[in-house]
Amino acid sequence: MPETDRERRVIDEVTKGLIIGGSVRDATDGRTFGVEDPSTGELLCDVADASPEDGMAALDAAAAAQPAWAATAPRERGEILRRAFELVTERADEIALLMTLEMGKPLAESKAEITYAAEFFRWFSEEAVRIAGEWKVNATGSGRVLVMRQPIGPCLLITPWNFPLAMGTRKIGPAVAAGCTMVIKPAGLTPLTILKLADILAEAGLPDGVLNVVTTSSTGKVMEPLIRDGRIRKLSFTGSTEVGRKLIEQSAEQVLKTSMELGGNAPFVVCADADVDEAVQGAMLAKMRNIGEACTAANRFYVHADVAEEFTKKLTERMGDMKIGRGTEEGVEVGPLVEADQRDKVAELVDDAVQKGATVRTGGQVPSGAGYFYPPTVLADVPTSARLAKEEIFGPVAPIFTFTEDDDAVRAANDTEFGLVSYLYTKDLSRAIRLSERLEAGMVGLNQGMVSNAGAPFGGWKQSGLGREGGSVGIEEYLEIKYVAMNVG
Ligand code: NAP
Repeated sequence: MPETDRERRVIDEVTKGLIIGGSVRDATDGRTFGVEDPSTGELLCDVADASPEDGMAALDAAAAAQPAWAATAPRERGEILRRAFELVTERADEIALLMTLEMGKPLAESKAEITYAAEFFRWFSEEAVRIAGEWKVNATGSGRVLVMRQPIGPCLLITPWNFPLAMGTRKIGPAVAAGCTMVIKPAGLTPLTILKLADILAEAGLPDGVLNVVTTSSTGKVMEPLIRDGRIRKLSFTGSTEVGRKLIEQSAEQVLKTSMELGGNAPFVVCADADVDEAVQGAMLAKMRNIGEACTAANRFYVHADVAEEFTKKLTERMGDMKIGRGTEEGVEVGPLVEADQRDKVAELVDDAVQKGATVRTGGQVPSGAGYFYPPTVLADVPTSARLAKEEIFGPVAPIFTFTEDDDAVRAANDTEFGLVSYLYTKDLSRAIRLSERLEAGMVGLNQGMVSNAGAPFGGWKQSGLGREGGSVGIEEYLEIKYVAMNVG
């Protein structure tokens, strides 16, 4: 339940229906599903629960709006995004409260996500007017080569619960800039933030039918027919590798262009020559941002034996001092995990490591009481047989392993099927370059604990995904290339 008048107002003001072709409607069979506050386990509100017919209606609307939208002036699309950037920024407090209520993270973290999320609108408002082509005389001199980029067509966007706004704007921004229409399906646990964003985009001038929002609890049944329908030309998914793999298979039927932002298992390597205080500061960010529920979260710490005890002691002090509570409370730094299953999985991974010989330096116990809280936890002496050496933790747990040779650290860091991001701390420039080149990841945080940046290409190697979001390549995912071979006589 919302606990204050302000919380009630923020929840009341959100659209709870499906947004299709610019109209808000109930699900055809009138069904709804509940959205919970993970800090209490209580219901916040109900939203429409789309059926496969509703999903198809959303696709009909996106397909109908596509030709006119593709023909709009790039400047017009850019200005809609710019206005949306300004509106999201102006309303950051209200959106942050909504996000904290449905997802659990502290208000300060929700605000930080909103700044990051809005930045994708600003970035792509600027990219909309820079969609370039190519013109050249061909090798024989007798013809001309004209290369143009055109919107790929209606897109299906599927987003996770951990960054309810940013994972949406990172897809919607380039799709709008490129001239694509879309159907978006936010995570069932956190649909309210995207519903709020859709209202803001309409206010910013986005025409009806360009963005259609489908909320559902029958996700697979509603999404699969859309993926198999020839009118969708692009699937952009952020979520687990397991679901991503399934969606790639489904996309094969229509040979869809796919972007997959999948799971991570980031190593955080601290060399003997690192500035330990800075490494601890970076570790706090890489581990505790979003309560550890980030694909970029440091999952495995490899610390040189010479500095391992100092690093572990300082990290333990910082993590042990963090204030846990409902994300809306003043000074809270650690909110609840998003749901009971997520908390149970984290507890299971810690118990497994402890049974196999790890030492708990702080945390490690599920607290009593309501909500899905798990305390910041540091584990030392972790054996490599522990499950958390291989599996994505997605919670506030820092397992520390030690090494003595750089080669061993690189081998251990790369010993995973994931390759989203790696963190590296060293003061030696040559070592920094050598090791950065050897780390098998789409991104490296070099002496910094965060890589997210709207102006940089975000994405992973190996089973962490396909394609990139953000940066100057982000818009390419929503464009098709056409080459015209010209006979000029
Ligand atoms: P998830 O279970 O894979 O869900 C992600 C989205 O996919 C949700 O909207 C979910 O809907 C939907 N979905 C689930 N089953 C589906 C199906 N059969 N067909 C179509 N859609 C389906 O992942 P999550 O637990 O929300 O998110 C955590 C994962 O996301 C982690 O592995 C994390 O590393 C990854 N992630 C990656 C990035 C990145 O950029 N690489 C960023 C953030 C998160 P429902 O909510 O209705 O189930």
